[in-house]
Amino acid sequence: MSDYDFDVIVIGAGPGGYVAAIRAAQLGLRTACVESRETLGGTCLNVGCIPSKAMLHASELYDEAASGKLAKLGIKAQVELDLDTMHAQRRDAVKGLTGGIEFLFKKNKVEWLKGHAAFTGKDTIDVAGKSYRARNIVVATGSNVTPLPGVEIDEKVVVSSTGALELAKVPGHLVVIGGGVIGLELGSVWKRLGAKVTVVEFLDQLLPGMDGEIRKEAAKIFKKQGIELKLSTKVTGVAVKGGKATVTVEPAAGGAAETLEADAVLVSIGRRPNTEGLALERAGLTVNKRGQIEVDHDFATGVPGIWAIGDVVPGPMLAHKAEDEGIAVAENIAGLTGIVNHDVIPGVVYTMPEIAGVGLTEEEAKERGEVKVGKFPMLANSRAKTNHEPEGFVKVIADAKTDRVLGVHIIASVAGTMIAQAAQAMEFGATSEDIAYTCHAHPTHSEAIKEAAMAVTGKPIHM
Ligand code: FAD
Ligand code: NAD
Repeated sequence: MSDYDFDVIVIGAGPGGYVAAIRAAQLGLRTACVESRETLGGTCLNVGCIPSKAMLHASELYDEAASGKLAKLGIKAQVELDLDTMHAQRRDAVKGLTGGIEFLFKKNKVEWLKGHAAFTGKDTIDVAGKSYRARNIVVATGSNVTPLPGVEIDEKVVVSSTGALELAKVPGHLVVIGGGVIGLELGSVWKRLGAKVTVVEFLDQLLPGMDGEIRKEAAKIFKKQGIELKLSTKVTGVAVKGGKATVTVEPAAGGAAETLEADAVLVSIGRRPNTEGLALERAGLTVNKRGQIEVDHDFATGVPGIWAIGDVVPGPMLAHKAEDEGIAVAENIAGLTGIVNHDVIPGVVYTMPEIAGVGLTEEEAKERGEVKVGKFPMLANSRAKTNHEPEGFVKVIADAKTDRVLGVHIIASVAGTMIAQAAQAMEFGATSEDIAYTCHAHPTHSEAIKEAAMAVTGKPIHM
């Protein structure tokens, strides 16, 4: 009998950690997963992807009814917002899914060690006063909110994404600091429910990291929806008094300051890796300048037997990236070959319309060589037009010599669903011609991807 308590201990039960634990157990390894939260599923299921999508979905339906969009389709309804019920269905979604992970742990015989883990050595951790030894330890501790220096998050008036999901009433004016994914998704929720929303973004465009043309088009669409954008602007202070906030902003390049009165302020300027209290030093682990644990291609850290995945390692902070790394690390620990192709990780912003991209942006692709670009507007897609969803476009970027697809970027009502075929095509090394000659069902939004691929050679049909 070995003197190890487990073959694998995973620290953190987010999409990276719980998936790693389940896969390790499926592969016959004695596995435990440490989680300090009351429920499994990490940021994503408890306070991230899932509750935000619950609010995005409900608020979108409310907006369709309240703004008269449904009336235009011949559906007339008296609409009233019942925010308590909307919150209750959000909590229900979270409860169902987090409970589902607990069921999967039991089914796969993953032991949940409840409490906060801290290293006591290279192969030992302490959880709730008990010591555990494992042959392999996977750090999957995720991330949390990046604070804005000088701005205190009280989760009442000045909120992080967690507080912004739970506001008890619709704020008259919501000021969002940071025009990234969280700011735009949660800003959209409260705008649809009746708030005035102002997004203050330090850079000259929203959504850093996305394709330039997509970022410009997104800004146009959000402005049209009535979201006020203050680009190239920085927040220099937030003062809270009597349940209201005064936000001081000034041009990023310097200049006269102005103030914005707000009923709520959302701080959404990014997330940072969770390593506090882990006592990494006792295991001989260090973090890089961004606070991340560096790993190699196999997700191994510099310390043999210790691995790391998800938001705590470099790369996009996305649930599906964490999940894929979870599967790969478990397979590597089991002696198989676990691989994640980090060049093909789709990203989706779940606003209306949705914004999605995979692979290189046009700017990045052009830096590497000559490209051909095909574009197709959703306005010319029969299904989008019929559904009164004319906004946005699809853009396919291909290598000018080989025609291999390098990137696909989409703004469309269902861009998040459409991007999957682009990711799969790229995973298989497809050319734009491969996509153009793949039969797409009619009438679907996805036909716009086929047409954009045809446009790479200048031959779309419906444009
Ligand atoms: P996490 O999900 O952060 O999980 C880590 C877990 O480890 C946590 O439960 C934490 O309690 C636990 N933990 C940490 N330290 C310890 C310790 N020492 N001991 C015990 N337990 C510990 N991504 C998407 O792809 N799509 C989306 O739509 C999306 N929406 C989001 C919306 C919001 C509002 C937010 C905040 C994030 C969203 N994300 C989304 C990002 C996504 O949630 C993360 O990328 C993902 O959860 C990362 O997974 P992870 O397993 O690395 O870490
Ligand atoms: P982000 O990095 O997407 O955006 C932060 C924004 O804040 C950037 O545009 C940045 O320029 C701006 N900013 C930074 N400092 C500022 C300042 N002082 N004043 C004004 N603007 C400032 O970060 P986020 O929106 O907080 O999201 C965090 C992470 O969560 C992201 O990495 C994202 O991948 C993940 N997430 C993903 C989804 C999704 O996949 N749909 C949804 C929510 C969150």
